[in-house]
Amino acid sequence: MDIFNNNKGKKKKKRNKNSAQLSFFQQILVSLILIAFFGVLVDGWFSPKQDKKISLSETAALITEGKVESLVVRGEKVEVNLLPEEEGGEVVKKETKKESGAAFSETLVNYGVAPEALRAVPLEIEDPSGIIFWLGQMMPFLLPVLMILILGWFLLRQVKGSNVQALNFGNSRAKIILPGDKDKRILFKDVAGNPEAKKELEEMVEFLKNPKKFIDMGAKIPKGVLMTGRPGTGKTMLARAVAGEAKVPFFFLSGSDFVEMFVGVGASRVRDLFKMAKKMSPAIIFIDEIDAVGRSRGVGIGGGNDEREQTLNQILVEMDGFEQNEKIIVMAATNRSDVLDPALLRPGRFDRRIVLDLPDRKDRKKILEVHANKKTLDESTDLQTIAERTVGFSGADLESLMNEAAILAALNNRKSIIQNDLLDSLEKVMIGPKRQSHLASEHERRVTAYHEAGHAIVASVLPDADPVHKVTIIPRGRAGGFTMKLPLDERRLPTRSNYEDDIAMGLGGYVAEKKVFGDITTGPSNDLKVATATARDMVTKFGMSDIVGPVVVDGKPSQTLFGGNVESKNLSEHMLQTIDNEVSQIIQRNLAKAEKVITDYYEAFVEIAEKLLEVETLEQEEYNLILEKYQIPIKKLQEKTS
Ligand code: ADP
Ligand code: MG
Ligand code: ZN
Repeated sequence: MDIFNNNKGKKKKKRNKNSAQLSFFQQILVSLILIAFFGVLVDGWFSPKQDKKISLSETAALITEGKVESLVVRGEKVEVNLLPEEEGGEVVKKETKKESGAAFSETLVNYGVAPEALRAVPLEIEDPSGIIFWLGQMMPFLLPVLMILILGWFLLRQVKGSNVQALNFGNSRAKIILPGDKDKRILFKDVAGNPEAKKELEEMVEFLKNPKKFIDMGAKIPKGVLMTGRPGTGKTMLARAVAGEAKVPFFFLSGSDFVEMFVGVGASRVRDLFKMAKKMSPAIIFIDEIDAVGRSRGVGIGGGNDEREQTLNQILVEMDGFEQNEKIIVMAATNRSDVLDPALLRPGRFDRRIVLDLPDRKDRKKILEVHANKKTLDESTDLQTIAERTVGFSGADLESLMNEAAILAALNNRKSIIQNDLLDSLEKVMIGPKRQSHLASEHERRVTAYHEAGHAIVASVLPDADPVHKVTIIPRGRAGGFTMKLPLDERRLPTRSNYEDDIAMGLGGYVAEKKVFGDITTGPSNDLKVATATARDMVTKFGMSDIVGPVVVDGKPSQTLFGGNVESKNLSEHMLQTIDNEVSQIIQRNLAKAEKVITDYYEAFVEIAEKLLEVETLEQEEYNLILEKYQIPIKKLQEKTS
């Protein structure tokens, strides 16, 4: 059975599927039991009980002994009514079978009954044409047949209920959401944020709702819409919302559904998909993860004529083949639009592009609200704070954060989600689950506290570093402790000084350990890795080095073997040397900066560390109190007016 199943609400959908299958098997089971049960019952009803049956010779003996009161012949069967054992007792009925084709009396004589004895017993012959009699004869055969018919009908209904086309269009693999399906319908209001994308898509909705208006005007509505964006930004969701708003059938297929072992299957699936969509037009065809079939042709592994390519060709043929008035819009989604075959993007195909960005703070709050809707939140919760701390989270991440929080609340037997559940799950998603088992020695705790205090003070003092939201020495994931710093704003375009101060902040832990303990643990190794990588990016990718200049000298090929475009730049020995020098310059420069901050604000630094040893976790308010004490300006969130 193909049940609609996409990223959205995967868990819920899966559960549905399981339960559907369960009840499906249960029904088979129940039906089988019923058949068996009825079989037994029928047998009991319509055929004589075992002890009632007697053989012909027994009947003959009974007649000879004079124990038989009367005989009734019904077709093949003979009822033998015995005389009561005692005076006034009940007549015992036995049954036997008569030899077919022979007169019963004759048979009895053959069995040795004396004619006198036989004459003493009244013999009745009943016509066996009564409807009850015939039903009785037929039932044992009819009932199972009937049951099988009922079972078949059940199965049919099951399949039909879950999705219509399983019977009609077995070939295409597409799942379909019909406009009447209230459970699966998604509307624009369910998709938070993304106002630009929604506005563009409204055009499609309008067209699907009222195609005549556009066709009469001679207006050209794009056949294909390509949605691009990072995973989890709501591409699939928005496509479904278009169908939901326009109240048209939504044919859903994933690029990977096309890719099969057998050549030609993908292409024939495309053909079927378009055929059935045309039958139900206006309709939307949605091809998710189209990069699975739509990668640039000709370069991939496996020669130029593989399955993927045929499928892609078929998509192109179909898209060229239908006319405006067929009222079909093909939507596709990918998070790798860079690898798509240019032929797909040509006018008349996927020429309309919609880019979905990661949500900004405002949209994150809205998304959180959408997903909070189905859960009980305590009054104490503050989604604004969560939105502020979830920079870089996609819609899907936010959904799973909400879900984690609900799980936490349930685990703690709470009736509603409290702010701490949200914060805890946020850290869990970002860094990893709390490590309770790890018992740090007192010295380790000290090192961690000073290390984190080092990060924190540098971040707070340097003007272009992100502000500190939280410092803790409670181990989480692989980190011994952590300093959570978050940008005040979505820095879409980080500056050179942002990067420099970030590097200094990253080196803060290293500097602190060296300064306080005169020795270095393996703790800062990851910090150093990140700092170095950032410095290298500054030099080689962002043109932020005066010596290397504004050129991208990235030695890495920009695409891999599968995608084609294999390029490799060979950098000269001299250039490599220059890059290394520059990277090390940046590191040295910021190391010195971090050292200066920690020296200049040594008291504040020590106070942070000692406070951490005492309370383990410093939230923003407490932390800011320390900053105020030492007259370190606190970075304020500037409300964006967008
Ligand atoms: P994509 O197809 O871009 O990878 P999906 O559309 O499958 O992402 O989204 C995954 C999940 O994330 C959705 O089921 C939804 O719950 C959540 N989500 C993503 N974006 C939004 C949004 N803008 N509003 C509400 N929920 C969202
Ligand atoms: Mg998707
Ligand atoms: Zn660190």
